[in-house]
Amino acid sequence: MDEIQKQAKKYLMNTYGRQELTLVRGEGCYAYDPEGKKYLDLVAGIAVNNLGHCPPKVVKALQKQAEILIHTSNLYYTQPQADLARLLVENSGLDRVFLCNSGAEANEAAIKLARKYGHTVKKIATPEIITAHKSFHGRTLAAVTATGQEKYHKNFEPLVPGFRYVPFDDVESLEKSITPNTCAIMLEPIQGEGGVNVPHQEYFARVRKLCDQQGILLILDEVQTGFGRTGTLFAYEHYGIVPDMMTLAKALGGGVAIGAMMCLEKVNLFQPGDHAATFGGNPLASAAAIAAVEQILEEKLCDYAAELGYFFQKELETLQKKHPSLILSVRGVGLMLAADLPEGLGPKIQKRGIELGVLFNLVGGHTLRFVPPLVITKEEVLKGISALDQILSENS
Ligand SMILES: *Cc1c(COP(=O)(O)O)cnc(C)c1O
Repeated sequence: MDEIQKQAKKYLMNTYGRQELTLVRGEGCYAYDPEGKKYLDLVAGIAVNNLGHCPPKVVKALQKQAEILIHTSNLYYTQPQADLARLLVENSGLDRVFLCNSGAEANEAAIKLARKYGHTVKKIATPEIITAHKSFHGRTLAAVTATGQEKYHKNFEPLVPGFRYVPFDDVESLEKSITPNTCAIMLEPIQGEGGVNVPHQEYFARVRKLCDQQGILLILDEVQTGFGRTGTLFAYEHYGIVPDMMTLAKALGGGVAIGAMMCLEKVNLFQPGDHAATFGGNPLASAAAIAAVEQILEEKLCDYAAELGYFFQKELETLQKKHPSLILSVRGVGLMLAADLPEGLGPKIQKRGIELGVLFNLVGGHTLRFVPPLVITKEEVLKGISALDQILSENS
């Protein structure tokens, strides 16, 4: 353990199970430790660094904006915030944006807006939201209640009332759990933290139809899937639908903390005083987000992610054929990929990966999740695959 790790362990709260690795610098698909050793980053800050580490256009936008105006509060108008809102609206099927600072905060905003829709439009006194088992929507109290995983609820009860849970990718269960109080259904297009769970192709079209028939809002949590991760700018594009609301964060700011909740005009119900965020969409974060989103669009990184994701997945499938008892299954869309492992192997792969200079991420203890920068090259994918091959061979 180095001095930085000792200091962190002494002064920070013990909220994270961290790898024994300190990072001091990043460039493109690589991060560097204090000794200058480089690590191929297949985690990308958990699907945040879609443009890699310190993407030059985002760095320049930040430098430029930092010298002009960093923060004003939302008591005033600013150009970067107005520009970002227009960029998001013009490149999605949604009409309005609320800017905030994280995924959980975006989901809190969505939950409040859905409840307001329930009260004022549907005249429901106690509006309810349906979410899915194995979902993940964040750690604040309503977002963690929306999260359909008991391990995240334990010791934090009482939870927020007004949530029901159904199995993911199961329209019949969803239909059965709708009550006259249901105001919204909130789902991830592909579940991320729950293990990269990809629904059947027709699931979301059927959910959309159900929502339309019953006058229920469809909220998509695109916090992890957004901004090219799955090979389209937003994952809902794969399903031929548009949600009534969607939440964004992770890759939105090119590494800078920013979140957004978007909605259709018919749900544009917030009035001054209903909701707010002091830092939400401040000029500095907005400038970073504009640069990040523009780069994804200009460099056609969605198409590139689809192509590299296909390549990466094929390579994982080849590894699975070589090590069938160690890679149990491979799945994913675009550059949001996963490989299931036998119990106990995941932490070994992570530890050995660090020795070999590759960062691997685990979800749920025994699923490797690959969410590398979208700018990763085929050579870099092969480098990661070859390290994984070596580790699997050492463990067979
Ligand atoms: C990461 C994540 C969140 C929470 O985002 P934070 O910025 O950590 O609050 C919410 N939903 C999904 C789908 C996520 O992947």
